[in-house]
Amino acid sequence: MSEFSHLEKALKYYFGYDKFRPGQQEIIENALSNRDLLIVMPTGGGKSLCFQLPAILKKGVTVVVSPLIALMQDQVEALQKNGIAATFLNSSLNFYQMRSREQYTLAGKVKLLYVAPERLLSEKFLPFLDLVHHQVGISAVVIDEAHCVSEWGHDFRPEYRQLILLRKRYPGVPVWAFTATATARVRIDIIQQLGLKEPSIHIASFNRQNLYYEVQVKQKNAYIQLLKLIRETEGSGIVYCLTRKRVDEITLKLQHDRVSALPYHAGLTDEERSQNQTRFLRDDARVMVATIAFGMGINKPDVRFVIHFDIPRNIESYYQESGRAGRDGEASRCTLFYSYGDVKTIEYLINQKSDPQEQLIAKHQLRQMIDYAEATDCRRKIQIGYFGEYFPGNCGNCDNCLYPKPVQDFTVEAMKFLSCVARCQQKFGMNHIIDVLRGAKTEKITQYKHDQLSTYGIGKDRSVEEWRLLGRCLLHQGLLEQTSDGYAVLKLNSLSWEVMRRQRQVFIAVPVAEKMSWNQNTSKAMEAQMLFQRLRSLRKKIADEQSVPPYVIFADSTLRLMAQVKPQTKQELEKLSGIGSHKLALYGEQFLAEIRNSCQESSVSQQQQPFSAADAPSTTELQTLQLYQQGLSIAEIAKKRRLSPTRIVRHLCDLMEKNQSIDINPLVSSPKQQKIWQVFDVLGDISLAVIKEYLGEDYSFDEIRLVRGKWRQQKRK
Ligand code: ADP
Ligand code: ZN
Repeated sequence: MSEFSHLEKALKYYFGYDKFRPGQQEIIENALSNRDLLIVMPTGGGKSLCFQLPAILKKGVTVVVSPLIALMQDQVEALQKNGIAATFLNSSLNFYQMRSREQYTLAGKVKLLYVAPERLLSEKFLPFLDLVHHQVGISAVVIDEAHCVSEWGHDFRPEYRQLILLRKRYPGVPVWAFTATATARVRIDIIQQLGLKEPSIHIASFNRQNLYYEVQVKQKNAYIQLLKLIRETEGSGIVYCLTRKRVDEITLKLQHDRVSALPYHAGLTDEERSQNQTRFLRDDARVMVATIAFGMGINKPDVRFVIHFDIPRNIESYYQESGRAGRDGEASRCTLFYSYGDVKTIEYLINQKSDPQEQLIAKHQLRQMIDYAEATDCRRKIQIGYFGEYFPGNCGNCDNCLYPKPVQDFTVEAMKFLSCVARCQQKFGMNHIIDVLRGAKTEKITQYKHDQLSTYGIGKDRSVEEWRLLGRCLLHQGLLEQTSDGYAVLKLNSLSWEVMRRQRQVFIAVPVAEKMSWNQNTSKAMEAQMLFQRLRSLRKKIADEQSVPPYVIFADSTLRLMAQVKPQTKQELEKLSGIGSHKLALYGEQFLAEIRNSCQESSVSQQQQPFSAADAPSTTELQTLQLYQQGLSIAEIAKKRRLSPTRIVRHLCDLMEKNQSIDINPLVSSPKQQKIWQVFDVLGDISLAVIKEYLGEDYSFDEIRLVRGKWRQQKRK
């Protein structure tokens, strides 16, 4: 048997995955050959597996140093769910728990031992580790989030500096360093500070093809824009805001609009934060509204969208924060809301910094961020290029590649704009210039007699937004300047004059109305979608019983496969990616039962024969019909006939199916009728429960049933 198939078999057996992600196999082979490793992989690349699988396959215990308790618990939980012997030692445990875990480890029953760095280096712990090494053997030391060792990284932790002690204490044990940080400076630091010996270095591509990147121009009512986006995107998501105040405000609004959202920022108590985090991980809350305090240590793999409500500080932070979406490799959406107004705020904040060097760097980074936001080129190309990696562009999964903005000749408008700036003596800001162009009647215009200028009102044919877009582009293309003293007065430069003299043309990319490629459904896909929702509910139930996050049971991608393939037996189920031997044994039956039920329900409803014309209404149905035709409400009929309202509704439905004409308009509003009708048209006559699940809380079973009656009646004709 070749090693190749041996590793793949182990992957399937322990983790349930069919294939390695790019790079994983090579890294694992290197790990098994006892070399030191430096692995740089973007978030979601699948780093953990690269040390977990070798840890299982090698003799002895692998010690994993991990900086955050939450991260540790998360990984250990996920490993245990796969039947892998893993445990952690940290300050959250009491004396007895520590003791028993230590003994367990010494008995050789643990393959992965997770430890916080401060504990690892304590006086008491090192002798224990010696004992472990002596009795069972330490197969490797893993340093997770290894960039914490570098002051150049974004998360320096002094304890990490002492980890080199381990290398010295156990010189024969390989050290494996893992990080998602991209800069070369940090990589060098890691190698030096941890004392890695000729490490095998693996730097994965920073391209995350499953993430859809887009920038939306932040509109006046940005909240409504946000709400719309959240409503049209499914699954969990994070909304990043600049300030705590904004976080609180948006959380409240979302909650008011019945989106289950929770806040996360440094102003909350530790307890509140950890509670909110747990609720988010367990899918009890769908949206986390957060400052950037939220993120590191969040291992939730099924975050489907990350929205930046405010512009991030720099491209690297944007890459890391948006990269928290789609770690499971499933399609996810990263949206940046961008407005020039926000840029002004940030510029103001930067100007408050006292260190001129810091100011300079911050301004430079902001500039790059603006370039990204206003770019008409592939978003990926810009991001990945930032990390020094070449990317050809045309990624096919960003707004600019999918919906290239048409470039238009705006030379004439630019001439109008710039000459207006000139006529106003280069003493005013953008808003005033636009007011003059559009012939507004403001106090300022009267005061300065700007309504007498030749440029007054020459731009009525364009909207304020269009003029602002043009103004911003002129600034951005260097054809116009703006003072940075807080007043943002527009100033002309030599290029502006070239434009006005018709020596230079001006082209700008005009944003087009958002075309939605998101969530396009065909009827088959919709059916799978609904089974997927059912499987999600089942997963949530099981997860709640065990107090773990749902993704620990099965990944979204695995549920989606189940919904598409609809396996009927354990053998069929086992073939799917994400189903390892352990989970198959634990949950296989439950999920199979759910799939079978759903298949039965839809086939039953498909087989249901239409009633024959001979079907005559029963007496009790006719009595109901009579009262209904007299204009009594359902409740009144129910009361009169001493039957339940639901019973009465059923009578009406049966009557329709027996070809009696019933006016359901008083019972179901017409938009609702339309919507329900549409769903039946697309999905066919499948189970009410599924239809209801699809339509959501706002639709009652009775309403759906009534429209179905009408729909069936129609179909028989
Ligand atoms: P990282 O630590 O690099 O951010 P993780 O190790 O948490 O990423 O992996 C991200 C997700 O990808 C996890 O849900 C993990 O189970 C999944 N994953 C890892 N390797 C594979 C694979 N070979 N096939 C499918 N899913 C994988
Ligand atoms: Zn692109």
